[in-house]
Amino acid sequence: MNKEKKNIAILGSTGSIGKQALRIIDAYPDFLQVELLTANNNTDELIEQAIRYKPNTVVIANSDHYKKVNEALFHHDIKVFAGEDALKQSVENENIDLVLNALVGFSGFLPTISAIKAGKKIALANKESLVVGGEYINELMKSSSSTIIPVDSEHSAIYQCLVGELGNEIDKVYLTASGGPFLGYSEEQLKGVTKKQALNHPKWKMGNKITIDSATLMNKGFEVIEAKWLFGLEAEQIEVVIHPQSIIHSLVKFNDGSLKAQLGVPDMIIPIQYAFFFPERKATQTADFDFTKNTEFTFAKPDMKIFRNLALAYECLKTGGNFPCALNAANEIAISAFLDERISFLQMPVIIEKCLEDIDLIEKPTLEDYILTDRLSRELAQNIIN
Ligand code: MG
Repeated sequence: MNKEKKNIAILGSTGSIGKQALRIIDAYPDFLQVELLTANNNTDELIEQAIRYKPNTVVIANSDHYKKVNEALFHHDIKVFAGEDALKQSVENENIDLVLNALVGFSGFLPTISAIKAGKKIALANKESLVVGGEYINELMKSSSSTIIPVDSEHSAIYQCLVGELGNEIDKVYLTASGGPFLGYSEEQLKGVTKKQALNHPKWKMGNKITIDSATLMNKGFEVIEAKWLFGLEAEQIEVVIHPQSIIHSLVKFNDGSLKAQLGVPDMIIPIQYAFFFPERKATQTADFDFTKNTEFTFAKPDMKIFRNLALAYECLKTGGNFPCALNAANEIAISAFLDERISFLQMPVIIEKCLEDIDLIEKPTLEDYILTDRLSRELAQNIIN
């Protein structure tokens, strides 16, 4: 085996980020190889990927599918495990050099913790890990050799802006937001929007959950929380700016008044690959930036009265403790009810807010407290919907 090759674990390999990560591995077979693939329910694609990329291990999180996956991969000499615990344990394997956590929602939290405890390099696409327990994760990082490189395009932008700035004081960061498909809509117009409209993001092709989060601006709210823990900022230092062109991926303002930004065409290949090869940059097949077609950059303040989720995220960040964890859980339930067409677009923030009213604040949650808050908030949100 080539010692130079990085062994990559891809958690959530059948999702949008996971599939793009495999394209990077296709492009750099001399540098990267797949050690572990995991999926939740998409067995056919997982089996196909495993046969093609020959990882050592495959985990199917939903145990109901174990038999099917194991039978398909048995003769390919690939180990198959099933269940949430297997998912957590598999990332600790000593052969893994880098863990790409591209899981969706709370399900990514415990695997992130395992990867930190095992001292792994983490390419973090699962922003919910830091939303749920950013404070806990930062505490763990202090006694671990693990490093986290953000894959979220805004945070990758900030990370890139901070290279060479060690010790220099950040005054502020500006997280850019496309504004999603409903930018400029009035409350009246938002009343009747459909699932199909909400899933039609103008700039980024992503999975369903994050696409709805982008439409409600909860995604941006989560990114504010994520930025706090990644870069050690206060809520007041993190500002959201609507930039519909999605070319400036975020900006950092330093104490001397200088602004640094990272720009590029909106393509997740760039931040995923940056995390894989950091600090090195390698070529990608992304489209050239065309100055003649991108003649206008515009900026605006987000409307937090209409897009209430962003305000809720700021409030939860300021409250701290287990509140961001509850916010995430209630949001996951609200989104799945919206996708099932059981509630309207504008009911999502209402349900989340009601749920938060019933949650007791735990200022310094333990790992068990996070797990319990998640479960309780889901039940509460579900009861509000029913
Ligand atoms: Mg983002």
